[in-house]
Amino acid sequence: MLVVMESNATDQMVAKVCLVVESMGLVAHPIAGAQRTVVGVTGNKSKIDADKIFAQPGVRDVIHVTPPFRLVSRDYRAEDTVVDVGGVIFGGKECVIIAGPCAVESRDQAMTIAEQVVAAGAKIFRGGAFKPRTSPYSFQGLGEKGLEILDEVRDKFKLLIATEALDTESLDTVASHADIIQIGARNMQNFSLLKKAGRLNKPIILKRGMSATLEEFLMAAEYILAEGNPDVILCERGVRISADHTRNTLDLSAIPYVKRTSHLPIIADPSHGTGRKDHVIPLSRASIAVGADGLLVEVHHDPSNALSDGAQAITPEMFRQLMSQVKAIASVLGRSC
Ligand code: PEP
Ligand code: MN
Repeated sequence: MLVVMESNATDQMVAKVCLVVESMGLVAHPIAGAQRTVVGVTGNKSKIDADKIFAQPGVRDVIHVTPPFRLVSRDYRAEDTVVDVGGVIFGGKECVIIAGPCAVESRDQAMTIAEQVVAAGAKIFRGGAFKPRTSPYSFQGLGEKGLEILDEVRDKFKLLIATEALDTESLDTVASHADIIQIGARNMQNFSLLKKAGRLNKPIILKRGMSATLEEFLMAAEYILAEGNPDVILCERGVRISADHTRNTLDLSAIPYVKRTSHLPIIADPSHGTGRKDHVIPLSRASIAVGADGLLVEVHHDPSNALSDGAQAITPEMFRQLMSQVKAIASVLGRSC
């Protein structure tokens, strides 16, 4: 950690900061510059509580040099983590495409969509059985019945299944049906859910919270790894900023940043990331171009009658276009889809 002093800080102020640092069992290294003094702090085994240092007179800024996350960081593990989900590999050469409706609405709906997305090249079928909805009056998902339909989709089309766990109560049930468990944006900091997911032997897609910083996002993943589950796939799904032309703003620059900072795979969700079907193909192309390890895309055969997220659902025909375009972009990068 670095303590940056004000340019007019006195020698006494610098000495007091050094004293406070040493009273915390740490070592202070004052470095006098032409404009100001900086105090380097070493000897910490974990993140230092900087508030006491910040409160000293003459302190302008406190800069953490080492990030607070450990297990998810590249410092801990230099090589990319590959997450193997029943033979489908995230974090390798292949960009994995996950596609399906926002919610499982019926057996027919799930089967119709699954048939089309598997034919177009999706490896994993998505569909919520337990849905986080803004309104308690909106369709909440079919619950366990939805999970049973997903089992049928797996058997019929030999697709892997990704579906969301909404809470700690339903996590084990969801885990017994899913090949990958999704933890949604609203639950990114549901720490009891993260801890419980960390004790499962099942890959997790962890979606970024809608206002989460990348540090908060990676700290949420750290919870899962810290409990012993290394198989986490991060998912950038858009954040809220003042722009209102889309539902959310897909933070494309998060992808190269996360890939440099962490060894975990990261995929993009251009459906929730934009909320608009006409933006899904362009943002899918862009996500692959910036290095995403895959996509999570909402597809519906009849978007205007979808029970959730119809405005952002692309049709199977659009999904075929998406696949051919992202394949071309992936190949430029020496990857496949
Ligand atoms: C979803 O994937 O359908 C979903 C609810 O996503 P998010 O948690 O990103 O809003
Ligand atoms: Mn959705």
